[in-house]
Amino acid sequence: MTERSKQLFEEAKRYLPGGVNSPVRAFGSIEDIPRFIKKADGAYLWDEDGNRYIDYVGSWGPMLLGHNHPEILKSVAEACARGLSFGAATEIEVEAARMVCEMVPSVEMVRMVSSGTEAVMSAVRAARGYTRREKIVKFEGCYHGHSDAMLAKAGSGVLTQGIPDSAGVPAGCTQDTLLAAYNDLDGVKAHFAREGERIAAVIVEPVAANMGVVLPKHGFLEGLRSLCTQYGALLIFDEVITGFRLRMGGAQELFGVTPDLTTFGKIIGAGMPVGAYGGKRCVMETVAPLGSVYQAGTLSGNPVAMAAGVCMLRLIRQNPGLYAMLDQNGDYFFTALAEIIRKAGLHYQVNHIGSLGCLFFTQEKPTDSRSAKTSDTKAYGAYCRYMLRHGVYLAPAQFEAMFLSAAHTKELLDRTLEVAEGYFA
Ligand SMILES: *Cc1c(COP(=O)(O)O)cnc(C)c1O
Repeated sequence: MTERSKQLFEEAKRYLPGGVNSPVRAFGSIEDIPRFIKKADGAYLWDEDGNRYIDYVGSWGPMLLGHNHPEILKSVAEACARGLSFGAATEIEVEAARMVCEMVPSVEMVRMVSSGTEAVMSAVRAARGYTRREKIVKFEGCYHGHSDAMLAKAGSGVLTQGIPDSAGVPAGCTQDTLLAAYNDLDGVKAHFAREGERIAAVIVEPVAANMGVVLPKHGFLEGLRSLCTQYGALLIFDEVITGFRLRMGGAQELFGVTPDLTTFGKIIGAGMPVGAYGGKRCVMETVAPLGSVYQAGTLSGNPVAMAAGVCMLRLIRQNPGLYAMLDQNGDYFFTALAEIIRKAGLHYQVNHIGSLGCLFFTQEKPTDSRSAKTSDTKAYGAYCRYMLRHGVYLAPAQFEAMFLSAAHTKELLDRTLEVAEGYFA
């Protein structure tokens, strides 16, 4: 039964473009209608028709500890009682900043903002201001939010200049965005060989999680690090998804590669709108009011959002077994899913790392955006609709990650695997 969601969607379409406030929520790519969510708890979502789902979206990442964690709710309620926003310095934002610096050693100073988009846009500006250079290298298939300069994809070739990916982005905004294929170090080398002294930064998702999930090949991140060092460019890790998810210190801790700047979002706000960017002190000191890189925000470091974030980071710190448990559950779940596929005589690919994973409807192992795009998105849509009908809420698009949380017990994972088996067997 999806009557109520259908009605709400019809009404929503009158007032909101496409009926939603962010495009992927419209379920268009799986040819279905959005489920309007009423509430969530632990690993579960309930929609307005009363259907219950095991949730593998987790608000697109923030819900590392599951929905409605009682301690986070309590921190937020207490902060609300003191006032929603002051537009002034607060103790809680100092605590948040200190925790980020302690948990992510490459971050010596950090600036809080209100979204991942803002974090990336500002980090790129700081990198350009610090290096006094203009070019940015970005990878095709990596998503860094919707700021103008980041909305560029490659044309047919790997080394094409950036062309805007969206109407409304002037060509001038992406002309300094150089594109390379993910995992293609030679493509990046070629950019540096041609205009190394004009490249301000290389920005990368250390695990790509916006073209499905694509892992960095051995040596790729290390290679980016040494190229940036060699040419005096900054390495920016966009850890909006991987930060606090793969390890307490993010993907940079897991892979042992140290960026100059890091962007955060999603988990850092525990479901409240928070983003952050930080890194080397010398770079962050170029940001206003210390330096000449202007960046500001009326609601930046909002006390309610900071209370949620600080509580989330504290809970992560207090749970030394968290990442081992998430890794173990992720390994168990995605290996079992791949086994179900194999037993059904299919050759679809499952990529995963820790609590992040993706089932690609293609026979070619995705290592970059080109191979990821060989996926049969219609087949993904049929699978996704079946899973929804059977109480499993997956990302309503092939090129998104599945997110496990600490609330996804082995029992829930097994129940999900049974549903998948019912589809494939
Ligand atoms: C989600 C995401 C962003 C954008 O964050 P918003 O909060 O949606 O603006 C940027 N980078 C990555 C890697 C993301 O996954």
